[in-house]
Amino acid sequence: MSPPRRVSVLGATGSVGQNTVDLLERAEDVEVVALTGGRNVARLAEMARALRAEVAVVADDALLNDLRAALAGSGIAAAAGPAAIAEAAARPADWVMSAIVGAAGLAPGMAALGAGATLALANKESLVTAGSLILSTAARHGARILPVDSEHSAIFQALAGEDISTVERIILTASGGALRDWPVERLASARLADTLAHPNWVMGQRITIDSASMFNKALEVIEAKEFFGVTPDQVEVIIHPESIIHSAVGFQDGAVMAHLGAPDMRHAIGYALNWPVRAALPVARLDFAALGKLTFRAPDLDRYPALRLAREVMQAGGMAGCVFNAAKEVALDFFVADRIGFLDMSVLVEATLARLAADSGFGQAATSLDDVLAMDHLARTLAREEASRRAKQ
Ligand code: NAD
Ligand code: MG
Repeated sequence: MSPPRRVSVLGATGSVGQNTVDLLERAEDVEVVALTGGRNVARLAEMARALRAEVAVVADDALLNDLRAALAGSGIAAAAGPAAIAEAAARPADWVMSAIVGAAGLAPGMAALGAGATLALANKESLVTAGSLILSTAARHGARILPVDSEHSAIFQALAGEDISTVERIILTASGGALRDWPVERLASARLADTLAHPNWVMGQRITIDSASMFNKALEVIEAKEFFGVTPDQVEVIIHPESIIHSAVGFQDGAVMAHLGAPDMRHAIGYALNWPVRAALPVARLDFAALGKLTFRAPDLDRYPALRLAREVMQAGGMAGCVFNAAKEVALDFFVADRIGFLDMSVLVEATLARLAADSGFGQAATSLDDVLAMDHLARTLAREEASRRAKQ
């Protein structure tokens, strides 16, 4: 019998995190090292107790005493703050789930790779903000990255045993999000609640809004280019409202290999957890007769400016991806706070990209985490200025 595997979950209290914990609770051969969360102390402590974690870490320093109280008598160590999360991520482990949302997930993921762990990467922002840095860090420490974004897991599975040089194109499917059937003239008036009604997937709030604006797909196009090492032209997006085909790969012989399944993140999480073994998973089985048909349509770039911006970001290179993501996060915060409208998000991101391009430029791809964090900070500052100028009074 193989020795128990040591695993950690970063962002355990979130949507991907809870799905991961669900699978870990069913697994027999795992020892849980660290669980981290943002602010939900009660849920974090409950999970840490259920999984007998060694340490639980909350992002907000002010909540340390609450976490200690919630873990009293359990023998589980408590810690708080971003540095403690990175330290927890670097604790010796075989497998670390990176499921913090936003650029906040980058440093902990890097810490896990630095310690040689296999990184199950849900945090797409890591590859968008610092793709080459993440990949080179993994290579230097002999660490493996396994994609967890459902599209990228699908592509990874379609590529198993194939020669990457025979790939012609990668076909990313998109549900189209909550507003896909709205007339384009109405989009400007979309409010937060409208964007949260995702047709197929249950996910965290931020990615659900990003699905409605297609910023999520824009991030995923860049993520695919970085992770699979293809050119921007090789990554296509197709709207597939049923979310049954999770993505596909087209080869030079014209064959297309697609991954199909129910829209349940435990497919992708479970694949990464058990890789290279395809273990049994508690997910719904497809019934083709009940499905009847699968439909597709081309995305309209006027409707989804984020997709056009992703192309421009890949063209610009350097740290444009970092700026794109940071400005998008700021725009999202302003939209959630009802200070800018739905369509203002892409206007704001485009304006921030233009200001940086005209000013310092995007430079070379980052060679250190400090480079990325400095660019992220600068982009957020400019994006906040732009947002404040456009904000509703
Ligand atoms: P979520 O909002 O549900 O959870 C995010 C987690 O990160 C929570 O544990 C939260 O407490 C924690 N967190 C938030 N801000 C933090 C900070 N500043 N420092 C430390 N921790 C912080 O998000 P999610 O939907 O689970 O998504 C997580 C990541 O996975 C994102 O990068 C998302 O794009 C990606 N992803 C999610 C899904 C999905 O189905 N939800 C699918 C594919 C990819
Ligand atoms: Mg996805």
